[in-house]
Amino acid sequence: MYGDFLREDTKIINIGGVKIGGKNKIAIQSMTNKKNIYAIIKQIQSLEENGCELIRCAIPNLEFTKFIKKIKSKIKIPLIADIHFDYRIALESIKNGADKIRLNPGNINSQEKLKEIINLAKDFKVPIRIGVNAGSLDKNILKKYNNKITSDALVESAINYINFFNLNNFDNIILSVKSSNVLTTIDAYKKLSIKTNYPMHVGITEAGISVVKSCVGIGTILYNKIGNTIRVSLTGNPLEEIKTAREILSSLELRKFGVEIISCPTCARTNGNLLKIVKDIKFACKNINKNIKIAVMGCEVNGPGEARDADIGVACSKNGAVIFKNKKIIKKINFIEITSYVLEEIENYNQN
Ligand code: SF4
Repeated sequence: MYGDFLREDTKIINIGGVKIGGKNKIAIQSMTNKKNIYAIIKQIQSLEENGCELIRCAIPNLEFTKFIKKIKSKIKIPLIADIHFDYRIALESIKNGADKIRLNPGNINSQEKLKEIINLAKDFKVPIRIGVNAGSLDKNILKKYNNKITSDALVESAINYINFFNLNNFDNIILSVKSSNVLTTIDAYKKLSIKTNYPMHVGITEAGISVVKSCVGIGTILYNKIGNTIRVSLTGNPLEEIKTAREILSSLELRKFGVEIISCPTCARTNGNLLKIVKDIKFACKNINKNIKIAVMGCEVNGPGEARDADIGVACSKNGAVIFKNKKIIKKINFIEITSYVLEEIENYNQN
């Protein structure tokens, strides 16, 4: 059943008011790719309007940490500071209000410096994501695994860091074990989730310009009941990441995001301009917050079945379309009336 799907015994972590883990919903996150402070703010505002719930921002240098407060004052969602190499950037990011720190402990390169970050994060109650990444695995681990990036190598690295954080009395932790190889990543998350109950940030790193790797990888990991926040990594506009993340979650019925439209792929039997009808309905439903399913089908083959199964369905035929609502035919109409009639039905649809 919807919502009963995920492993629910993960620890709950609070990221600036957004809770992940346990029974909390799987949060959607993205990352800014702008360099200018005003462009960053504008991009985050656009992302949050489109469903982004956590935003990560690369903090390239110490100077940049002073902008965190300014960015936070202009956005509504928690801000995650992405830190590499220089531990002082992590310290200053925490002091300047970052809601979470993401770091790969391996590239901080000093246990003492790492302890300083841990102690400050503890004081400020800021969670840390231990982000183990195939591209920056610990040298000793790589050596042990004959320089091969395997799921076991990723998991061992994560466990070593968890132990170090725990030894320093820190357990406000989120984990990730990412690789650009889908199978390695799936395997690593499965193995790691058996060994720990910290919440997981799930993603396929360096997935390129296609959403396929992310959909397969993240989808499979979620299907295995693992994952508490997801990020679809794409080379390009992060708005696409949010759109894809929503589609992954709604496909697995883990979350719902308003009107869902299913439509047939079209073929030589298709009646009417199905693509235009679907696009028009989709555009008009963008801001309608009703969790209902609309089916738009091109002919009598699968049309009536799918249309009947949806909350509101359209089954086209040679002479127009049959409209279904709650499994019953409610109207027969001409092609040109379809979009406006369906929108009217959506408007009046009572979900209860
Ligand atoms: S529903 Fe009909 S029109 Fe659509 S793809 Fe199937 S056979 Fe073709």
